[in-house]
Amino acid sequence: MGGPMPTAPAPALVWNVALPVPLPRLFDYRPAAGEAGPGDIGCRVRVPFGTRELVGVIAGIAPPDDATPELRTGERLDSAPLLQGELLESLRWLARYAHAPLGEVVATALPASLRQGEPLADTHAWGWRLTEAGRTAWPRLRGKPRRLADLLADAERDEDALATLLEDWRGAARALAGRALVERFALAPATPRAPEAATGPVLNAEQQQAVDALRAAGTGFAPFLLDGVTGSGKTEVYLHAIADCLARGRQALVLVPEIGLTPQTLRRFRERLGVPVHALHSGLGDGERARTWAACLRGEARVIVGTRSAVFLPLPAAGLIVIDEEHDGSFKQLDGIRYHARDFALVRAKALDVPIVLGSATPSLETLRNASSGRYAHLQLRARAGVARSPRVRVCDVRKRPLEAGLSPELFEAVAATLRSGGQALVFKNRRGYAPVLLCHDCGWSAQCTRCDAPMTVHAGGRRLQCHHCGARRPAPDACPDCGGLALQAQGAGTERIEEALAARFPDVPVLRIDRGTTQRRDALEQLLREFGTAPGILVGTQMLAKGHDLPNLALVAVVGVDEGLFSADFRAPEKLAQLLIQVAGRAGRAERPGEVLLQTHHPQHPLLETLLNGGYHAFAQAELGQREAAGFPPFAHLALMRAEAKQLDAAHAFLHAAKVALRDTGIALELHGPLPAPMPRRAGYQRAQLLLSATERRPLHAALDAALPAIHALPEARRVRWSLDVDPIDL
Ligand code: ADP
Ligand code: ZN
Ligand code: ZN
Repeated sequence: MGGPMPTAPAPALVWNVALPVPLPRLFDYRPAAGEAGPGDIGCRVRVPFGTRELVGVIAGIAPPDDATPELRTGERLDSAPLLQGELLESLRWLARYAHAPLGEVVATALPASLRQGEPLADTHAWGWRLTEAGRTAWPRLRGKPRRLADLLADAERDEDALATLLEDWRGAARALAGRALVERFALAPATPRAPEAATGPVLNAEQQQAVDALRAAGTGFAPFLLDGVTGSGKTEVYLHAIADCLARGRQALVLVPEIGLTPQTLRRFRERLGVPVHALHSGLGDGERARTWAACLRGEARVIVGTRSAVFLPLPAAGLIVIDEEHDGSFKQLDGIRYHARDFALVRAKALDVPIVLGSATPSLETLRNASSGRYAHLQLRARAGVARSPRVRVCDVRKRPLEAGLSPELFEAVAATLRSGGQALVFKNRRGYAPVLLCHDCGWSAQCTRCDAPMTVHAGGRRLQCHHCGARRPAPDACPDCGGLALQAQGAGTERIEEALAARFPDVPVLRIDRGTTQRRDALEQLLREFGTAPGILVGTQMLAKGHDLPNLALVAVVGVDEGLFSADFRAPEKLAQLLIQVAGRAGRAERPGEVLLQTHHPQHPLLETLLNGGYHAFAQAELGQREAAGFPPFAHLALMRAEAKQLDAAHAFLHAAKVALRDTGIALELHGPLPAPMPRRAGYQRAQLLLSATERRPLHAALDAALPAIHALPEARRVRWSLDVDPIDL
């Protein structure tokens, strides 16, 4: 071939790739084939990085930087962007907010298989049919293959149908497919059969007003607080709003707390909406997660009910976002990229230009303030929906009363009366295990975790010790390790011990304990409650029982261990305790029978309890907001917490001191508190300290961090510690 070799034109543009590495920048690569173009943004690439290969996302394209000598090349994995417009922009926002590398934020947002570079999951449903050869061979087949062929001779069938018609059909199908007698084919995009939409109850006046207000607000961004006690019918309002959204041909995303996504909840949504409802929660396998993600991206998923991480789902046809129990702590991610799903959902709703409804019986103080300042429209449901009546609350002063497993005679009597009248009782204690401390009565020794500054919890009726902070376990000693005495006593009571005491006192009824010890899996909990039924009986439980799971015959809720929450150093402790009390109390009397709530305390005159009981949650919230304002705490200030841990406390302190200097050197006015010991100064063998940043405005806080973080990352002290930054921390 003659003529000069054509010189390859230098690539005009390079990719700026976000990689999952802890470096706050993008990395440039050249396409291995073809040219970089704007259509690449949002696609994944596989690139060499040092000696490794990484999967990242193209976040931008730009002319090559002349200073960079030889750019390495990467391979594009997607033919169309995976992270499209709004989602990529919202993730950029999150990276700026969390002061985290975009690549790590993207990695948090993507399901594992996509993070690892696998193709976008298939969302087709699959069918099976006989081939020509199969039709000929069919009469000669025997056994299970024959029965499968019989079914397919009538009609081609989808996999769900086969599963109901023939047990272990897959093996037979594989065998026949190996001989090319049957074949698998993709059905039209999955539209799992949905039941006809069932009609719900007629809305009461307040519910109707709420639905009307949502309708009147139209389709653009508009935040709402739907504020109503448990059982006031908030979910009915969501269902109407979602139905409206579906009627407009749009997608709806519903976020629920980790323990709120029960099979019951899903069933209710499925039965009422008449479209498939996709669920996303921590119990799903990687495959299911990836399929749901793909179904959202393709617009096939119309309604998604999910926990925290569902806030990252792509919503190309978004129409509505709902956050149920918006105050719930499980919406905040406590490690890695520390985001709050509620706050990020608000960012997304704004970017998507759709309405967002925050629902709660006990709204967070942040949200209440946004409602009272007019930033959110405030919709209230004051009455319980339907026929249910509000429970009667009684405070039981247990000072000087004889207690058994921490339970007073009045409590036992109230349980007995409930059982006599055919009802069920719930005894709530937010502490699992047998007892929180093992103590030597002779010398005062107590069992401490060797790796944490915390006592070990007694389990298994006193035979085992377990640390709830690092998971360490060991058998309980028979004799005191210090004095050799035999007077070891389990102090205090957890759910196990309460269960034991109640079972001994009420041997004729079932006593069911629900906590993380008895129910690792969410369907296990439902199974246990189904067996428990509605006959007279006693439930003992932790926070896991505070919501979800309708308990129609629950007549009494007795709360013990209130006092532990009354005197905590955490400024959010009163808010959390008030929310928990209201939520648990709300479990009583959901059906026709009015419920009763018994609060057992040594501090009946504590202002928190008095305000809560006499004025309800809103009176408490008003008072608490006043205190927060006076003390300069959120929502009247904005906080960020820098945490550091190391084997040596000095190293953690040295790092935080240097970080403090770097922040001060920015010249931006900011309050800096610390370094201080963390609430648990030693955990799993690490010494922990923290530096608190506080400002009355959000902007200077972020400006100071933006200015100081490059220097902080480069500190020599940073190499000797593990450190992290938490903007808007919820546990200080
Ligand atoms: P929330 O979400 O506020 O706890 P739900 O929407 O779950 O309340 O309603 C509580 C119970 O009351 C449910 O069993 C629901 O079916 C019923 N309910 C809700 N609204 C009405 C209504 N307008 N009329 C009759 N029953 C209702
Ligand atoms: Zn001793
Ligand atoms: Zn420990």
